[in-house]
Amino acid sequence: MRRRKLPLSLKSFVLALAVSNLFPAAGQAAEVMGPPPPPERWPGKAVEAGRADCLKRLSGLPVRFEILGPIKEGVCGTPVPVRLKGFGKGASPTVAIEPAPVVSCRLAEALYRWTVDVVQPEAKKHLQTGIAGMTNVASYDCRSRYNNPSLRISEHAFANALDIAGFVTEKGERIAILDRWAGGDERAAFLHAIHAGACKLFGTALGPEANDAHKNHFHFDMKERRQPLCDFSPEQIEAKKDARKKAPASGQAAAVESGRK
Ligand SMILES: [Zn+2]
Repeated sequence: MRRRKLPLSLKSFVLALAVSNLFPAAGQAAEVMGPPPPPERWPGKAVEAGRADCLKRLSGLPVRFEILGPIKEGVCGTPVPVRLKGFGKGASPTVAIEPAPVVSCRLAEALYRWTVDVVQPEAKKHLQTGIAGMTNVASYDCRSRYNNPSLRISEHAFANALDIAGFVTEKGERIAILDRWAGGDERAAFLHAIHAGACKLFGTALGPEANDAHKNHFHFDMKERRQPLCDFSPEQIEAKKDARKKAPASGQAAAVESGRK
């Protein structure tokens, strides 16, 4: 018996079907592998542009910084990290950040603004003195949020975040967030005021009010958001309430969003 010839297009279809049945994983291989890995080094243009932007932002300000070499660790890093030593014009900084954190230039600029526009005026108001130092407990760190690989990558991994555990006044008094946040005195008022003031300057501003992971530090980062994430602003609290009412199932996602960064 003579077999009828299949049209060419139908032949390829049958062949493709047979192959996909024989090797079901073959068609998915590209998907499993995901997008190509990022380049091992930052392109020269990105570093050049980043340096120019950094100098534009910081060189006119009394910011004490040192531009470091590009950092690239897999998806982590930044083309132009800076070591931020503090603020002030003289031989030694007026406000020292210790140990000196490794941060992005945008974050360094926002920290300067926060120090000058918020921290010092609030210190004068509540403590009748200025602030001479801040304690850095985490800056650049190639990790996920909470060090949990199932959560999104932290802004710390892009040198875009700083954790501050406390302050030293010009009189030499140490004010630790862990000890003083809930104290109810003028030190607590100072800490609450500077946290509230941070909301307008950073993409994220979290402290002890957010959760237990932040009971001993403020987390500030420059993540770009439609609205800054700051648990203190009344609008944010209202927005969260509304979101919970509208979508109770997404409550868990909101909790993760406000978790430790
Ligand atoms: Zn943090």
